[in-house]
Amino acid sequence: MNVTRHVAEQLTRLTDPLDVLRAVTDQFGDRIAIASSLGPQTLVVIDMLAGLGRPVPVFFLDTGLLFPETYELRERIQARYDLQIRSVRPRESVRAQAATHGDALWDRDPDACCKLRKVEPLRGALSELDAWITGVRRDQSTSRGSTSLVEWDHAYGLVKVNPLADWNRARVFAYLAAQDVPYNPLLEQGYRSIGCAPCTHPVSADADPNDERAGRWAGTAKTECGMHYPDIVEVAGRAVAAG
Ligand code: SF4
Repeated sequence: MNVTRHVAEQLTRLTDPLDVLRAVTDQFGDRIAIASSLGPQTLVVIDMLAGLGRPVPVFFLDTGLLFPETYELRERIQARYDLQIRSVRPRESVRAQAATHGDALWDRDPDACCKLRKVEPLRGALSELDAWITGVRRDQSTSRGSTSLVEWDHAYGLVKVNPLADWNRARVFAYLAAQDVPYNPLLEQGYRSIGCAPCTHPVSADADPNDERAGRWAGTAKTECGMHYPDIVEVAGRAVAAG
């Protein structure tokens, strides 16, 4: 058995996010990092680790297609926590991707676009680590419903730590308010979650309040970029190709 997989199994007894963060930072030292799109969940985790005096490197998947507000938030978070957030970028710029695959690949084949601009760069960044920390919560979507606080990530072959797996959206925002942590202002302008600008839209007031992924890839069945569930996206992509 892989040693880090064994460690993941040992850590599954923990239930408190702070205990989880203490344990994994003890265990993995400089072989653990936070993958963040600067969504509210990972802001909580960054703040918790700062409070514990255990800053962990943060990397940020910069697709080149993010909202200006997201880049501005990165600057604010870096300044607040005295962090250097590392940008992980796709192999090709947006312009080069258009030359290779045609304009606006996200409109024609969003799974292929996410693979090029998110999943492959993520895989490269994770190949240097034994564990990664995410902000995934179980109640965000059906596909995230079986997320554990600490689990073995079969897709990428390392330990995956989801300290807020048990939390809900209200608890996340209560924490951010209590600690006065800044978050993306678009979340107060009708956006439920924030991804790339071409694929993220505000939702109407009567949208299902439990659908936190509403507004992402609107008008399609896609709900995941594939970073957390590459198998789901690849299976969906094959079904589309077969159909
Ligand atoms: S979210 Fe949209 S623009 Fe961003 S990588 Fe995926 S398909 Fe491309």
